[in-house]
Amino acid sequence: MTVPSVSFEFFPPQNLEASFRLWDTVQVLAPLAPRFVSVTYGAGGTTRDLTRDAVATIHKHSGLKVAAHLTCVEATREETLAIADDFATAGVSDIVALRGDPPKGSAGFKAHNDGFASSVELIEALAKNGKFNIRVGAYPEKHPESPDHQADVEWLKRKFDAGADEALTQFFFEAETFFRFRDACAKAGIEDKIIPGILPIENFKGARNFAKRCGTSVPDWVADAFEKAERDGRHDLLATALCTELCTDLIEGGVDSLHFYTLNRPELTRDVCHALGVTPKASLENVA
Ligand code: FAD
Repeated sequence: MTVPSVSFEFFPPQNLEASFRLWDTVQVLAPLAPRFVSVTYGAGGTTRDLTRDAVATIHKHSGLKVAAHLTCVEATREETLAIADDFATAGVSDIVALRGDPPKGSAGFKAHNDGFASSVELIEALAKNGKFNIRVGAYPEKHPESPDHQADVEWLKRKFDAGADEALTQFFFEAETFFRFRDACAKAGIEDKIIPGILPIENFKGARNFAKRCGTSVPDWVADAFEKAERDGRHDLLATALCTELCTDLIEGGVDSLHFYTLNRPELTRDVCHALGVTPKASLENVA
C-alpha cells in the first residue's frame, strides 16, 4: 500500500496550559514529517492574534511549513489582507482561505460592508497578491447552507478558477462519501488536488455534535460501534481501528494525501499514521 503524505490541523491556544498542549502535539507529530501543518482561525475572527502567534511560533521553532487559516468574517478587505501580510511577515507561505462562520449566537454569515462577500472573493485577492499557496475548504456532504451537492461542486470549481491550489475536505465517516464527491468534481472539470479531511475520534459524543453542526452524517453502524466500545472501555481501540480503516480504504482508492484534524491531541493521529506506514523521519529542530 502507498504510504500517504500527511498534514495536521491545530487550533490556537487560549491560555498557558493550552499552549503547552499545542507544543506537545507539535513535538509528537513533527517527526512524521508532515507536508504542512495548519492553524485555525476562530469563528468570527475571534483568534486573529492567537492564530498569528501560533503560526509564527510553530514556524520558528519546528521548521515545519505552516498554513494559517483566514476567514472573511467581521473584517474589511483591507483588514483581512493586512492579517495575511502579518502572516507572511511571520514566515507563513500557505493560507487556508475560508468564508468562515459568524461568531456564536449570530444568524448566518453576513459580509462586512467593506469586506469580502465570499471565499471566492478572498481567494481572488490572495491569488492576485501572489504571496501564498492557497488551500480552500470542500464539502463531500452538502454544506448546511448550500441547496444541494452539485452547488458545492460548482462552488469549489469557482474557488479553483479564482486561484486556489488545493482543497481540504470537511471530515466524513465512509470512504465512499469522498469517492462520490471526487467523481462529481472530476465530472465538473476539477483536476486539482482534493485532500480528504480525517477526524480521529477522541470523544464520540463531541464528534457527533460537531458532525451535526457541519452537516456530516454519522452512520448508524459507527454510533452502535462506539456505544458498545464505550461500554467495554475500548473507545480508543475502536477509534484507532476505524480511522485506520477509513484511511486505508481512501489510499486503496487512489488517495495519496491525508489531512488530520488533531484537535491538539496527537496520540490517535500518531497511532493511525504509524499504522499507515507514516513513521518518524526527522527530529524536531531548534526546540526552544
Ligand atoms: P464556502 O465553500 O465559500 O461556502 C460553503 C458552501 O455554501 C459552498 O460550497 C456553496 O455551496 C455555498 N455558497 C457560499 N457562498 C456562496 C455564493 N456566494 N454563491 C453560491 N454558493 C455559495 N471556520 C472558521 O471559522 N475557522 C477556521 O479556521 C476554519 N477552518 C476550516 C477548515 C476546513 C478544511 C474546512 C472544510 C472548514 C473550516 N471552517 C473554519 C469552517 C468554515 O468556515 C465553514 O464551513 C463555513 O460555513 C464555510 O466556509 P467556506 O470558505 O468553506 O465556504
